[in-house]
Amino acid sequence: MKLYTTITSLQKALKEERLKGLKVGFVPTMGALHKGHLSLVEMAASMCDIVVVSIFVNPTQFNDKNDLANYPRTLESDMKLLSTIRCEYIFSPSVGEVYPVPDTRKFEFGALETVMEGKFRPGHFNGVAQVVSRLLEIVLPDKAFFGRKDFQQMAVINELVRQLNLPVEIIPCDIVREKDGLAMSSRNKLLLPEYRKCAPLIYQTLKEAKEFAMKKKVAEVKKYVVSQINATQLLNVEYFEIVDDTTLIPIKNWNETGTKVGCIAVFAGKIRLIDNIVF
Ligand code: AMP
Repeated sequence: MKLYTTITSLQKALKEERLKGLKVGFVPTMGALHKGHLSLVEMAASMCDIVVVSIFVNPTQFNDKNDLANYPRTLESDMKLLSTIRCEYIFSPSVGEVYPVPDTRKFEFGALETVMEGKFRPGHFNGVAQVVSRLLEIVLPDKAFFGRKDFQQMAVINELVRQLNLPVEIIPCDIVREKDGLAMSSRNKLLLPEYRKCAPLIYQTLKEAKEFAMKKKVAEVKKYVVSQINATQLLNVEYFEIVDDTTLIPIKNWNETGTKVGCIAVFAGKIRLIDNIVF
């Protein structure tokens, strides 16, 4: 496992691997790694000859300065974790390396960026598109691995790859959860104990709703989920939507075609958590 901080040195090394005919798998992350990230790395290792993990807290996707400032940065322990599994390259560049000049590109993702995360975090997906396109152009992987935890991000990235004709296959990976059901997230580290204690209620409620969803109207299910979670006082639902999994447009009736996914964002104090469930 080798750490690279510059584009030129990483590209030189990867060029040699590619000349040997080896397939490159890429896992972009913002670090503060947990088992959710590791599952992506393991998936990459099972499908590719060479695994590259990037660790880069991308400033352009944060619409909240405090969130960016407080985002955990733990390169040393991240490297330790990665050394326990197969990962050949770590790419941890500085902001100036990724953005030698400010990235002013504006992407258009239509409805994909106007609902849910797009609505409540304006500019977030434009920043995600900037960094993911930059990283994909730098690493030039055969396959790139993303978690279904960030369900809307996945849809945006698929659209980005389509729009830019990037020669990469996007591989979706399942959500990894704590034993109590809370979706693993780097932000979980920031939860105060009382918030951490009630955070599992988010997934518990989603699972409960899934059980009876089809027997109730969509609006009733939505109301149930929001009131159930908000009842704790410590949790505050920002949105809960049940959407079509490709258009991300909220559904009105269960008889609409396509897979339906319930997506939620919840504030546990100042920490914002997201999760989703396939209905
Ligand atoms: P992040 O470091 O939060 O930007 O996440 C990097 C990648 O890991 C993204 O593709 C996420 O969707 C994925 N990821 C984060 N948490 C989980 C999880 N609990 N299960 C599966 N994938 C995850």
